Amino acid sequence: MSESNFAVFGHPIRHSLSPRIHSVFGQQLGIALQYTAIDAPPETFATQLQAFDGRGANITLPLKQAVLPLCAEISDFARRVGAVNTLTRRLDNHWRGDNTDGAGLVRDITQRHGLDLRERHGLILGAGGAARAAAFALLDAGVAELTIVNRTPERADALADAIGEPDRVHTRYWDDLDSLGNFDLIMNATSAGHSRESLQLPFAIVAPRALCYDLSYGVAASAFLAWAHVTKAGYVHDGLGMLIEQAAESFAIWHGQRPDTDAVYEELRSALPLRASD
Ligand code: NAP
Repeated sequence: MSESNFAVFGHPIRHSLSPRIHSVFGQQLGIALQYTAIDAPPETFATQLQAFDGRGANITLPLKQAVLPLCAEISDFARRVGAVNTLTRRLDNHWRGDNTDGAGLVRDITQRHGLDLRERHGLILGAGGAARAAAFALLDAGVAELTIVNRTPERADALADAIGEPDRVHTRYWDDLDSLGNFDLIMNATSAGHSRESLQLPFAIVAPRALCYDLSYGVAASAFLAWAHVTKAGYVHDGLGMLIEQAAESFAIWHGQRPDTDAVYEELRSALPLRASD
């Protein structure tokens, strides 16, 4: 095993910002490391992971579920979410799986943007891996109620069932969004923006001073952010900060030290086409 080798596995992976983020963290704390992006189609991922000699790895789309059976140990949060984004090599050479997406999201909202999640009435759009991490983390952070709406309703129901809190978590149909009242927390956890598809969202779902948050960033977040800016939302943010905070959580697992995230946030923010409001 190479102590200083780290990687992110995904497919496609060319545009991943993780190598840059971890390199800045390492420089900041004087930790020598190599962090590479490895393109791993699902068919060859297990073999590629077996050949990897590093101490830790991040796992991204579309492999976060596929990696579960390759872990000898899985953290409680990753098990609840059903997805792993961080692997750490144990002393016996087997992998431990964690999921840092939820902690990264909550830290971005509460620490960077200074917003309180407690007692909010939330709406999550989407029910994929990111929505699952967001839902569990937001409930753990004290959100009062969550409504989950997904294009494929069965996946929303499956997420609500996995959470198992019928008093706090409800599912509704996309076509009924008009009649659901309003929410003071609206999370776009769909991947629609990556294929330039825009979501049909009524303005009426946004409560005055609400937080509208898109888990994606860059061009993929632009349509949702543009919509949110013309609503009554008080706060509109993309997922760049979540990306950096989840990376910092992974870094802390591997190196035992949490890096300062502000410098890399400012660097990457200035390179993105859109700026969210603060
Ligand atoms: P995923 O597992 O593939 O799930 C995609 C979700 O988007 C599903 O709920 C899917 O609905 C929905 N969807 C896709 N196209 C849609 C459309 N045209 N209209 C309505 N719904 C649509 O992906 P994921 O891992 O959850 O990622 C979701 C988003 O979160 C992505 O934009 C990703 O970049 C972002 N993300 C950000 C971070 C971060 O650190 N900032 C971390 C993880 C993910 P169906 O179930 O009907 O297919």
